[in-house]
Amino acid sequence: MLHERSYLLTAFLDLGLAEPITRALVEERYETPTPIQAQTIPHVLAGRDVVGIAQTGTGKTAAFALPILNHIANNRRRPERKTCRVLVLSPTRELSGQILDSFKTYGRHLKVSVCLAIGGVPMGRQIRALSNGCEVLVATPGRLLDLVNSRALTLDKVEILVLDEADRMLDMGFIHDIRRIVAMLPAQRQTLFFSATMARETEDLGRLMLNDPARVAVTPQASTAERVSQRVVHIDKSGKAELLANILKSEPIDRAIVFTRTKHGADRVVRQLGQQGLAAEAIHGNKSQGQRERALAAFRNGKIKTLIATDIAARGIDVDGITHVINFDLPNVPESYVHRIGRTARAGAEGTAISFCDREERAYLRDIEKLIRMTLPSTDGRTGQPIEAKAEQPARSNRPDGRPDNGKPKPRNRAGQRRRRRDQAAKAAGASGQPGHNNGHQHERKSTAKPFTNPQRQNGGTAEPGLSSVGFMRDGRSERRGKRQHAQAPR
Ligand code: AMP
Repeated sequence: MLHERSYLLTAFLDLGLAEPITRALVEERYETPTPIQAQTIPHVLAGRDVVGIAQTGTGKTAAFALPILNHIANNRRRPERKTCRVLVLSPTRELSGQILDSFKTYGRHLKVSVCLAIGGVPMGRQIRALSNGCEVLVATPGRLLDLVNSRALTLDKVEILVLDEADRMLDMGFIHDIRRIVAMLPAQRQTLFFSATMARETEDLGRLMLNDPARVAVTPQASTAERVSQRVVHIDKSGKAELLANILKSEPIDRAIVFTRTKHGADRVVRQLGQQGLAAEAIHGNKSQGQRERALAAFRNGKIKTLIATDIAARGIDVDGITHVINFDLPNVPESYVHRIGRTARAGAEGTAISFCDREERAYLRDIEKLIRMTLPSTDGRTGQPIEAKAEQPARSNRPDGRPDNGKPKPRNRAGQRRRRRDQAAKAAGASGQPGHNNGHQHERKSTAKPFTNPQRQNGGTAEPGLSSVGFMRDGRSERRGKRQHAQAPR
């Protein structure tokens, strides 16, 4: 084991980071650099600007924090009053807090001075913290400008600028703030620019601030999706809460994030779980900063193992060891699905993503499957039975009359014939793709029947909604290869 550890660590040692940093990495049990770290760190150490295309979850924080700490270790000097030597801009308070924690963790043996400048909390403490200057300042753009305007801070001593999640900054309307900040920085500086995507606006912003940058990229969606075991449970809306409670009780869950589409939905799920004796906390935009921090802290230290979140609130949440992502509601933006499942399977870990899909969400599921280019294994929430992908196409018949043969004998009585005709009509309506109609899935016909009432019984008493052992090829062909699915990421 020791031998293995020292062998693996050479990969970090080869990067030439200062000893106090590699010591912290050993303590954190980081053994090998992630791809974004292996690509980025040498460029930053060489003093180059970098543009990195990488998502949260790929290890990008350490990719910039480690070489920056190395720069500080090798150029130790006291920062001037009301200045910072390194400025990290991030779009959200949560992400800023996490970046700060990373600097503290990796820099613990260097005793770097760090400050956080985020909105939503009084400015007084931040002003006092900055009065002696700091080595690393992590900030959201609005609060940073407030501090500059209050003369609590000047930016003319910044040696290294990091812009994290540039695409989100643009989405959130920070472009003008960023331009103003960049105009205040010394022209002679090193700039590290990270973005999950690189659309034209993001490229333009990069051009504004970068000088002959080295380009590095990782394709996180692919690697994330490959390591996440994904499945869908088709369930009526009214059965979702009970199904969730059963999954939380029966699956080997260390930490689960449950996504809802709305803030009220998140609060409702917390109440419903409470009625089942399951403790959970919600984080969303209606919660105060203090409430959000308390909920995150309880989640991090294991006091609660279930966090209910909306997409916006979950941005930038970085908690290690999330074993399950549960989509209580499917996102209507398919990219959000990829972001959500990326909360688990971080830095090489494996994770499970379970998505609940009611009748109205089937179109969203189709969009998601198109984006990730795979058909997700599905089970019927009421029976726990797998739903085979091939059921999407009415099976080709071997019958001489060419009618679909579902393996059942032709009904002899009138009631049976009526039922069969109704089933076929429902199937045909679904195949025509009308919204709100079933699309030919076996389970969808069933879902017009009795509502889901007792998942304990439906799931054979185990409440396990049923793992499909059927794997699916990218083109939808089914192939038996165990429960792990290998996704092909969107390009
Ligand atoms: P990030 O993409 O920076 O949000 O990092 C995702 C998670 O991966 C963080 O929680 C880190 O603690 C963890 N991590 C980053 N780099 C490594 C590494 N080389 N080995 C193991 N875990 C890592």
